[in-house]
Amino acid sequence: MNRNRTVAFIYAHPDDETFGCSFWIRHIADEGGYPILLSATLGDAGKSGRLGEMNKEQLAVKREQELRNAAGILGLAEIEHLRLPDGKLKEVDPVKLRESIADFLRRHGADIVVTFPEDGISGHADHIVIHHAVNDVVFSGEVATVQKLYYNGIRPETNRSCMKMSGDQYWEMKRRALECHESQVFSIERAFGDIANFGAASFSPEYLVLVWERGEHFPKKTESTIYDDLNS
Ligand SMILES: [Zn+2]
Repeated sequence: MNRNRTVAFIYAHPDDETFGCSFWIRHIADEGGYPILLSATLGDAGKSGRLGEMNKEQLAVKREQELRNAAGILGLAEIEHLRLPDGKLKEVDPVKLRESIADFLRRHGADIVVTFPEDGISGHADHIVIHHAVNDVVFSGEVATVQKLYYNGIRPETNRSCMKMSGDQYWEMKRRALECHESQVFSIERAFGDIANFGAASFSPEYLVLVWERGEHFPKKTESTIYDDLNS
């Protein structure tokens, strides 16, 4: 099977990729795929953890660097930022947002797209805006190279085609990638517990739900890889 495919992850903030999809990104990279990331904001409205006071500009620079460091560990081949206002994606022109996402997918010839599920995992409003924007782009079929869309999640879904990636061989890598997002230490500890005590049990498996495949929504099938049934 040809695994040399471009898999585009589209999220709202630097760290969303590490929180939700570390195992899958690393797995795709290890198997010879080409995982890339589009991050809509620089996360500069967030907090700076234990790093002391930072203004928005300083935090933006810091978070961009943190994402670069994490990307090296995850095996992300390329990262792009839309530099949209953090926490305010609802106020962004939805047509422009969709165009930016479509442009990213087109320029990279993405075969597969991964984004937030309906609830944005955490319910964050920016995550839900990205979820809908990616849906709109992919479902329209306007990016001809895109053959599949997946949502990433932290629970199995029994009524939908769903693949599980456990952290057995990846949890240590996820720990290191999370540690790169130094400014986000409080959200990391809220989600996964005390960083000093991270172990295999700190991280739930990561799931990918197949949402769309060449025009068909939620196809009922059992997949063993994200590359199943791709046209060449
Ligand atoms: Zn986020």
